[in-house]
Amino acid sequence: MDTEKKYALEIENLNVEYHVDKEVVHALNGISFHLSKGETIGLVGETGAGKTTTGLSILRLIPSPPGVVKGTIRVQGEDISTLSEKQMEGLRGNVVSMIFQDPMTSLNPTKTVEDQIAEVIRLHEKCNNREAVEKAKKMLEMVGIPGDRGGEYPHQFSGGMKQRVVIAMALACSPEILIADEPTTALDVTIQAQVLDMIRDLKRQYNMSMIMITHDLGIVAEICDTVAIVYAGNIVEFGTLEDIFNRTAHPYTVGLFGSLPNMDDRTQRLKPIPGLMPDPTNLPEGCTFCPRCPRATEKCKTQRPRLVNIGGEHTVACHLFEEG
Ligand code: SF4
Repeated sequence: MDTEKKYALEIENLNVEYHVDKEVVHALNGISFHLSKGETIGLVGETGAGKTTTGLSILRLIPSPPGVVKGTIRVQGEDISTLSEKQMEGLRGNVVSMIFQDPMTSLNPTKTVEDQIAEVIRLHEKCNNREAVEKAKKMLEMVGIPGDRGGEYPHQFSGGMKQRVVIAMALACSPEILIADEPTTALDVTIQAQVLDMIRDLKRQYNMSMIMITHDLGIVAEICDTVAIVYAGNIVEFGTLEDIFNRTAHPYTVGLFGSLPNMDDRTQRLKPIPGLMPDPTNLPEGCTFCPRCPRATEKCKTQRPRLVNIGGEHTVACHLFEEG
């Protein structure tokens, strides 16, 4: 087998910057991971950790310059930095699709939902308008919306139904890789469960690879095979679901689990991780988690830890694990 095509997606040492008011925002600082066919990876972390930037980089939707300043993204073995804009248009929505965070702002309020889904189909498949609309109706039915509602506008749908429309649009051309960016955050809890079940079933049906971007460890437990904990634009811990949930290593991951409500714990307050994520325009010299870490040492203030393997696929970036 061609080793280059072994993975559906490979990201190596990805560094992304934004320029805002003459300041440089270091959004991603060396992220690396890969995704096999049919695998689901969870990208977990707080707001501003770089999860969405990772997804947008895969679709080459980052303002450039500066954009990707270092690193490689390979989709099915192909380095996307070598593709023309036309080739990227052929890839977006067709090979790689993204479900954006907020269904309220992802849909065009002036077009019917079937027209919006049909537009994706027409762009990527050789078919006329009538065939594209027919397929759009089938996609709506697949996500549990009667096809005859396709002629309605987004404001005529509830939040959960709008998210289903966005999912139908993302899946319309059977992508190889689906990036789901907090797909249930804008929905209420009962609808969240339905939408998650649906994503999981469709993913299985199409044998897609998926990146699930979330801050919710419950969603990760339900849907992911591997997990990358992202902090200040870097992966600080990576492993299988078992590694992360049963052999939690990095103090930040420990803090994430510690801040969850616990049925056995009778205390009245949750235990948040103190402090905030560092300013991405001015990252600390040493470990980026150092100002909030209960186990920090002098070394942590000046030396950035490297990712080390602590068994199987489990890796962690923390000085506590560097000497075994
Ligand atoms: Fe905490 Fe130091 Fe590990 Fe960073 S390297 S997580 S500061 S112990």
